[in-house]
Amino acid sequence: MSNCPDCEKYPEERNDQGTRIWQLAEMDGDHVQPWSKGGKTIEANCQMLCRRHNNAKRDIW
Ligand SMILES: [Zn+2]
Repeated sequence: MSNCPDCEKYPEERNDQGTRIWQLAEMDGDHVQPWSKGGKTIEANCQMLCRRHNNAKRDIW
């Protein structure tokens, strides 16, 4: 199992990423509910995503 929730969540995108354990340096913090939609910067609203998925979400923050 990957430690990136989005790698787990989207099996159609899986190749090696579905089981990949990312190094902390390869991950970035993400808002579960986007900050632009009222999401708070609190621990309960944050998760760590791999850079690939974080970059994919960046435009909707
Ligand atoms: Zn990922």
